[in-house]
Amino acid sequence: MASEKKENLIFFSDVHGNFEALEASLEVIHAHKDPYIISLGDIVGYGANPKECLAEIRTMAKVSLAGNHDYAAIGLTDIERFNPYAKKAAIWTSQQLDDEEKSYLTGLPLKKQIEGLFFLTHSTPIHPERWKYIITLEDSRAFFPCFDEQICFVGHSHIPLVAEKTGHGALRVLDHHSPIQLDPESRYIVNVGSIGQPRDGDCRACLVIYDQHERIIEFKRIAYDLARAKEKIIHAGLPAFLAERLQYGI
Ligand code: ZN
Repeated sequence: MASEKKENLIFFSDVHGNFEALEASLEVIHAHKDPYIISLGDIVGYGANPKECLAEIRTMAKVSLAGNHDYAAIGLTDIERFNPYAKKAAIWTSQQLDDEEKSYLTGLPLKKQIEGLFFLTHSTPIHPERWKYIITLEDSRAFFPCFDEQICFVGHSHIPLVAEKTGHGALRVLDHHSPIQLDPESRYIVNVGSIGQPRDGDCRACLVIYDQHERIIEFKRIAYDLARAKEKIIHAGLPAFLAERLQYGI
């Protein structure tokens, strides 16, 4: 990443093979000038279009990380610990991907630091391979000492969160429903939510745009063709619950 500040850094995670959600998100992304795209993992798993989502993200993402479902699809994580729906989807996904696609996933890192600016990971900044979640302010508390950068971007929970640690050491959650002005004295853990399977009760795809010049973080929610994504999941023979949950955002 070149050292000049970028206006439109796009962070997203957990596309989970939902091509309809990804396509709708791409329209929003490309409405922005020179988007610099960062994918925080779980490109595949759950949804019916792992190959299509992989192809799209491989072309456009400047930075791409691995998530637990990407690892599951290539046998790098134990799916016995997955719930039955996730396990079934992981096996199905693995059968869809060819060797070349699997080798791309194998090469993805679990974490990345960018020029002293950001720390990026799917799960947590330390021991990402344990796949712990950062959902609440309490979850975030233990992880602030685990990175040196001002902002750590994560995914994995499918639930947006902005946790701030002020210059005085106070911790608080910021409302992510409107743009957030970052304080240069504070540090942040930002959970970017999920494009392909949001779980915060809002069924729309979720992504984050960060303007480095203005230091403003904005969450975007994007409606997409839910009916089609659901239909494809059923048609693929994946568990019906994986289709149902999309419309409730759970
Ligand atoms: Zn996920």
